[in-house]
Amino acid sequence: MTVPEVVVVGGGFGGLEVCKRLARAHKRGELRLTLVDKENFFQFNPLLPEVATGAVETRHIVYPLRAFCAPRGIRFLRNKVRSVDAQRKVLILHNGIELRYDQLVIAAGSSTNYFGVPGAEDIAFPFKTLMDAIRLRAHVVEMWELADQAQDADARRRLLTFVVAGGGITGVEVCASLMEMFHRTMARLYPSVPLSLVSVHLVEAGERLLGGLHVEHAEVAARHLRTAGVSVVLHRRVSQVEKDRVTLDDGAVIPAHTLVWTTGIRGASLEGAWPFAAGRGGRLQVDKHGRCLDAGGQPVAGAWAIGDAADWVDEQGTSVPQVAQGALQTGKTVAANILEGEARHSLRYFDYGYIVGLGRHSTVARPFGIPISGMIAWYFWAFYYLFAMVGFRKQLEVATDVLKGMFVGHDTSQIHERRRMLRSEDLDPNLA
Ligand SMILES: Cc1cc2nc3c(=O)[nH]c(=O)nc-3n(C[C@H](O)[C@H](O)[C@H](O)COP(=O)(O)OP(=O)(O)OC[C@H]3O[C@@H](n4cnc5c(N)ncnc54)[C@H](O)[C@@H]3O)c2cc1C
Repeated sequence: MTVPEVVVVGGGFGGLEVCKRLARAHKRGELRLTLVDKENFFQFNPLLPEVATGAVETRHIVYPLRAFCAPRGIRFLRNKVRSVDAQRKVLILHNGIELRYDQLVIAAGSSTNYFGVPGAEDIAFPFKTLMDAIRLRAHVVEMWELADQAQDADARRRLLTFVVAGGGITGVEVCASLMEMFHRTMARLYPSVPLSLVSVHLVEAGERLLGGLHVEHAEVAARHLRTAGVSVVLHRRVSQVEKDRVTLDDGAVIPAHTLVWTTGIRGASLEGAWPFAAGRGGRLQVDKHGRCLDAGGQPVAGAWAIGDAADWVDEQGTSVPQVAQGALQTGKTVAANILEGEARHSLRYFDYGYIVGLGRHSTVARPFGIPISGMIAWYFWAFYYLFAMVGFRKQLEVATDVLKGMFVGHDTSQIHERRRMLRSEDLDPNLA
């Protein structure tokens, strides 16, 4: 009897959940499991804002995928999937290698959606990957360095103006983290740069921040950010991005060299399109069992999609959100179906709640439907993330960072290729 080949594309929250649940069957020789990822590490996204501001060390939020696969005997391929030949059941990888599968699980996450806003893709800072966080930290520090040397007050103000597009969880957390970094660390390290020149604008198209979360928490977050000095701009969209300004849809212009794009994600893209039906937001349309559909809306045998990559409506008609819980629960359902050898299980999504970090000692959260905020929520935030980190070593490293953060400021080292950063040569007219 031939053993079925199961290939999981993507070692994020969803992909690793599938691998964990299939690992035993793999060890027993009932199936052969391969994980493919274009990166060689798992990345813990919820702590990216802390990495971008130097509150948590870069390497502490990643976990090598080989360290996950090797003890379980899972084959790992560090490679990028370029296209899928669904007829032949073959994946085509970056270097032309073909990988045959019987069961394919697409857990490739999402990509940034710029909604066609002119200049956004070229100029804005996306905020999805570890490299995005490293790049943003280096750029923010560069702005302070340039402001320290600039002679002209307008130029200094522009250098120290930071715009964040998107008032969802990530946008709110990025603003809170930036403000904390500026007040706690930058003010001390750059004594010649007055904090009064610094401004952070959070631009949100909806009528409130944190749409979809508890209204009271949206208000706590808005109040917290405003108190910290963030200008919260509601009912507005970014309509154009240039190197030195951000234009909003009412014509208002914010002179700034920094726009962080935290709004809008779409399904993960391949260089060639996925050969399955597309659903909302460029994601892969799946049925309630997680099976990909063909152009005629019929399930494709042996092709599944989970997590951010899937447009999945559960058995109660709830659209599964693009959050870690969504990836874990869809992954669990698909793993169960693969183990059964057919689509028996469907998903009933359970919302375990959310956590929004608002900086040191301040958080809003709703674990199991119970709204909490302030210091208690912050301890909950710290413990939850420690618990959720993959592996004891990472838990220890993040715990050390959180403890360290109580006594010392942010690490402002610029670790990035200088030629890829905005430098004084790009800005020179008003610089000394
Ligand atoms: C900054 C930020 C903060 C967040 N904060 C929270 C939070 O606080 N709480 C929460 O619940 N959710 C949060 N999320 C959302 C959460 O991270 C996602 O919903 C979750 O990661 C989705 O899991 P996934 O497995 O579908 O995809 P991912 O975790 O994104 O994993 C996808 C994997 O696929 C790989 N991949 C992609 N394309 C290819 C390809 N062609 N070939 C090979 N490999 C490929 C990628 O390298 C990646 O490893 C946050 C997201 C971001 C960006």
